[in-house]
Amino acid sequence: MQSAAQLRELLGGYASEVERCIRCGFCNSVCPTSNIPQAYMGSRTSRGRLVILQSIITGSREIEFSNKLLDLIDLCFGCRRCLEVCPAGIPIPQIMWSVRSAASKMGLPHASWMLRSFVKNYDKLASLASRFPGLANTLTRSKLGRVLAERLLGIDKKVELPAYIPLRHESSINSQQRLAYFGDVFGLYHEGNVVSGLFSLLERLGYGVEVPRGQRQAGIPLLELGLLDEARATARRNVEILSGYVERGYKILTTSPAAYLALKQDYPKLLDDTNARKVAENTIDAVQLLNELVKRGELELDGGGREVVYHSSCFSQATSLSGAIVGLLNNAGFKVVGTTPRCCGVAGMWGLLREHYETAKQVGSALFNELRDAETIVSQSETCRLWMRSILGKEILHPVEAILKYCKA
Ligand code: SF4
Ligand code: SF4
Repeated sequence: MQSAAQLRELLGGYASEVERCIRCGFCNSVCPTSNIPQAYMGSRTSRGRLVILQSIITGSREIEFSNKLLDLIDLCFGCRRCLEVCPAGIPIPQIMWSVRSAASKMGLPHASWMLRSFVKNYDKLASLASRFPGLANTLTRSKLGRVLAERLLGIDKKVELPAYIPLRHESSINSQQRLAYFGDVFGLYHEGNVVSGLFSLLERLGYGVEVPRGQRQAGIPLLELGLLDEARATARRNVEILSGYVERGYKILTTSPAAYLALKQDYPKLLDDTNARKVAENTIDAVQLLNELVKRGELELDGGGREVVYHSSCFSQATSLSGAIVGLLNNAGFKVVGTTPRCCGVAGMWGLLREHYETAKQVGSALFNELRDAETIVSQSETCRLWMRSILGKEILHPVEAILKYCKA
């Protein structure tokens, strides 16, 4: 079939990765969308997606490469949990990004033009909106704003969009210990209050923090939509800016697991160059830095034994930051009474879209039951917090936010 040959060609090296799958099904055991009732159909599982792609690529079965098939591919939301368990080391999420990119080139774009444009330009739009936070927040919280978000972008109108709280920071410290902050959209435009609280704490400890101008979004949603050229261009721009800081002796600081994942893992693979690797080597997340400072006795925190439950998000697991977070919470005087690795179902923007909203709730239902009675919940991922807050109707804190809110420092 013509489409099979075309798909094979467009997938490049990923076609042979698909062929290497041994169909063991281990990935199903950790895949959040493969563990909901609808996944009684094999084609709706991670293994099922690989088997179908294999069949198309090898021509063993005549399966049309169609929108119906892309709906199955769409059930992979890129959490990366399967990477830990696949015995053949198949890069499953990367394959799915490439399939979406290929589909787009074959005239079957994965998302509407409006949604793709929105995702490509979200950092610029958020930067503009956060200059007028009062107006922007009134609009996004209004009924009209929600209806427009649903009609134009497909974001379910039940979703409470994140408020614009911009980061305003002027570096005032001339220090040998220099940090350049890479914020992604939440750190720069939605959770600026938490980030500026972190900066004040670090400056008290003698760090000089700068926010490099011109930095763009980290770009994980671009990858998820298969906008690989755009993701590469964004990565190149960020690396160009951040590598200049690394040359001048700065460490790159993140607060978002998506930003950390992009710098540490995705950019070096996407760009395959020395500067991307240099940036990766010099990137540290705030939870790691604070934990080190507490362990070295340079920062004393007293959480007063407050009981917290920690939600280990998919990206906190993929980056291995969860260990540092639990360590930090314990060392900061909190009592971690529970840690849950369950997926909340939102996966960045995925669960916010009307077409996935109910499935996302189903994926997260076991987690919601687990967290319903918890008093203080901590999670590092920004969209997980947004989503869990809207479903559970309670506050969910970033680890740094929990420290700023409850610790005597
Ligand atoms: S990346 Fe996540 S959603 Fe996709 S197949 Fe792997 S476990 Fe499933
Ligand atoms: S775990 Fe790996 S080898 Fe096994 S079915 Fe999944 S992708 Fe294929």
